[in-house]
Amino acid sequence: SENNRTNFIKNIIKDDLASGKHKSIVTRFPPEPNGYLHIGHAKSICLNFGLAEEFNGKVNMRFDDTNPLKEDEEYVNSIKEDVKWLGFNWDNLLFASDYFDEMYNRAVLLIKKGKAYVCDLSQEEIRETRGTLTEPGKESPYRNRSIEENLDLFERMKNGEFANGEKVLRAKIDMSSPNLNFRDPVIYRIAHSTHHNTGDKWCIYPMYSFAHPLEDAIEGITHSICTLEFEDQRPLYDWVVRECEMESVPRQIEFARLNLTNTVMSKRKLKLLVDEGVTDGWDDPRMPTISGVRRRGFTPEAIRAFCNEIGVAKADSTVDSRLLDHFLREDLQQKAPLAMAVLKPLKLVITNYPEGQTEMLEVENMAKNEEAGTRMVPFSRELYIERDDFMEEPVKKYRRFFVGNEVRLKGAYFVKCTDFVKDENGEIVEIHGTYDPETKSGSGFTGRKVKGTVHWVDANNCVPCEFRLFEPLILDNDPENEGKHFLDQINPNSLEVLQGYVEPTQIKDAKPLDKFQFVRNGFYSVDTKYTTDDKLVFNRIVPLKSSFKL
Ligand code: ATP
Ligand code: MG
Ligand code: MG
Repeated sequence: SENNRTNFIKNIIKDDLASGKHKSIVTRFPPEPNGYLHIGHAKSICLNFGLAEEFNGKVNMRFDDTNPLKEDEEYVNSIKEDVKWLGFNWDNLLFASDYFDEMYNRAVLLIKKGKAYVCDLSQEEIRETRGTLTEPGKESPYRNRSIEENLDLFERMKNGEFANGEKVLRAKIDMSSPNLNFRDPVIYRIAHSTHHNTGDKWCIYPMYSFAHPLEDAIEGITHSICTLEFEDQRPLYDWVVRECEMESVPRQIEFARLNLTNTVMSKRKLKLLVDEGVTDGWDDPRMPTISGVRRRGFTPEAIRAFCNEIGVAKADSTVDSRLLDHFLREDLQQKAPLAMAVLKPLKLVITNYPEGQTEMLEVENMAKNEEAGTRMVPFSRELYIERDDFMEEPVKKYRRFFVGNEVRLKGAYFVKCTDFVKDENGEIVEIHGTYDPETKSGSGFTGRKVKGTVHWVDANNCVPCEFRLFEPLILDNDPENEGKHFLDQINPNSLEVLQGYVEPTQIKDAKPLDKFQFVRNGFYSVDTKYTTDDKLVFNRIVPLKSSFKL
């Protein structure tokens, strides 16, 4: 079920194949290994891998690792794992740093053509002399160095004769161009820093706007898909490919980046959340990272369906994160078996049920799926129900337990509440009721009806466990509006940890990442980090109900 509605990129590719411009296509996913991937990257992954698949082309997994200061092997590994987990396989695994020799040679070519020069201005001076949209820039006093001098200086930059920041290589284009990117952009800088791949071989590194078009051209990428903020850079992209005399000419196409409500979607910002200790790492289940949502229990199928639904647009927008929740429910509804769990336990004693007796009751395994069969769950005199399912003073229309009211225990019996017990602090610690054996579920009893049904677990045969409930990390719907900093809008209640119980049957072999639908509550996944041999910890993936309409 492909969403063609907004995918203008497909139309470009179809035209290119029809006109014979390309016989087949090559796309790439080019993350910088400076952080963990997030849901925004998933959109780009679905797009690039999806296009290659649909048009029978190839897709490169390329690490855009041209900045040793921020990159790390840890990120390389997590990115590979995340892409695979999303369900995609690349044709080639490549590293931009493998092209450093070729990039250097192309820079030398530019110098020889009089199209690049070594500049001694500082970063700040370069910024200050760049001009503005209404004002032309000022030419660097080093702009007219001879080709010989430039070749000599660039080689000495490479040989490590200068300190960081002492010199840069700039493209020599046009300091009065209306496109600021053409005002002699820096294409190489000095960074005495060890690179995760090339070690200490290099102390000069190419800038993104120079490196990226070369990487694409070297790999024979036909359609280089990137986010909208690079639109202004496209003329420079084309300039680099042309002036460096690259044989293969890739085409850059921009699309709108994905933003989601109540979160931030940038590796730099997500790193801040980790470094500031707001979350317990990149894979905190509240993080919009792929590793975070995986740990939380999201499924790749739901993420892909979501990316497909939002499509590819040319204008930036913020997507309501409840849309992603919708696709999660759709997917989990079919996968996650039912289980009864009580998150905020209150004891219910059935005073007319024989002491010491346990019976096994048959309940369905999956919601709305008879083929999934049934299982037997234990039932005895003492149960746990949710605290919220009892009210001392019932509000209007309350249909669950209060003294005098009869309620159905799901899959079991009708129970009428008779009284309750408070402790010395006035807190209700236990409620009492009587059951009617004739009302047993499945017995065909029609004598009378009750309005409320609640779930329960057998207090004598249940498993204590921890439940972790999540709310959005960021309070504001648009965390960056009105100049507010997202770190000042952290939701202090984004995590709630509860100690409760779950039925023994369905979860007896549960292992990390197994998913369940807790009756009347939501979808849960076994946590990979806090679960031990002695204790199950469940992450709430998403609550059952939502007010959100597609
Ligand atoms: P970040 O700001 O999070 O670091 P980035 O664009 O710098 O993002 P890259 O590692 O360069 O991160 O991203 C790899 C690819 O993923 C790029 O092609 C980029 O355009 C794309 N991408 C990144 N963020 C998004 C997003 N929010 N929506 C869609 N595509 C994205
Ligand atoms: Mg980037
Ligand atoms: Mg970035």
